[in-house]
Amino acid sequence: MDLGLNNKVALVAAASRGLGRAVAEELATEGASLIICARKQETIERVANEIEAATGAKVIGAAADVSNPGDVSRLVEIGIQRFGRIDILVTNSGGPPAGHFETFKLDDWNTATRLLLYSAVELARQVLPGMKERRWGRILNITSIAVKQPVDNLILSNSLRAAVTGFARTLANEVASFGITVNNIMPGYTRTERVEELSRMMAEKEAITAEEFVARWEKEIPMRRIGKPGEFAALAAFLVSERASYITGTSIPVDGGWIKALM
Ligand code: NAD
Repeated sequence: MDLGLNNKVALVAAASRGLGRAVAEELATEGASLIICARKQETIERVANEIEAATGAKVIGAAADVSNPGDVSRLVEIGIQRFGRIDILVTNSGGPPAGHFETFKLDDWNTATRLLLYSAVELARQVLPGMKERRWGRILNITSIAVKQPVDNLILSNSLRAAVTGFARTLANEVASFGITVNNIMPGYTRTERVEELSRMMAEKEAITAEEFVARWEKEIPMRRIGKPGEFAALAAFLVSERASYITGTSIPVDGGWIKALM
């Protein structure tokens, strides 16, 4: 299937590793030009060069903290200066810390809100005028399975991913007539650097191996394994493609069947 991504320009946020990087690699392989960000210039430039070398796509790496609106507007400016436009936006960031209600003060909620919700809002605000003008655009938010089924001990993520989903569903209605789609992908347990670090950390606390810890997650997954970043990125590439032109306002899990709900 030709996804029609050749010559499209995509901004992929938080893409130095993990899901963001996998999406960037997939889009570059499909012929899109990219602007990608992470907080450290050196790291994101290295990753941009690696993706460019592997795919032949044009990739710019720019330092930006997506929870800082000034960084977001600079990032979009660099993309527009270099490529003339941004057709596709993939929002992403690191996850907020784990914890229960009593773990967090209001400041923690503010920080997590800037990281997860405001970053998606601000990125969308910066790219939408151009998308509306050209009457074509794709916005895709990376959220979490927590939107459908809250995950224990993740109160910040459970709350704020739902807020992003409400924002995205409303925005989808407001921009659909401009040929712009807004969707979310809900990753389940996926073997990224973060998940590897997390499983090592949790395993240490319980004096078991990381593999034993991951096996506990795998027991809850009908496919009995955690996902690969490439499996996530394949759906992302489709949802931002020309071919997904009539899909908007939706959230799709890539979770090996983890969410048990019907809808
Ligand atoms: P990861 O830690 O491996 O990668 C996160 C990326 O975001 C890195 O490139 C990092 O440099 C960048 N980043 C972090 N904070 C940033 C900021 N403020 N500004 C710019 N860049 C920033 O994480 P991942 O596993 O790829 O997860 C990506 C997102 O998906 C996270 O929000 C995570 O909570 C969520 N998620 C992941 C899984 C999973 O199993 N991997 C499951 C559900 C949800």
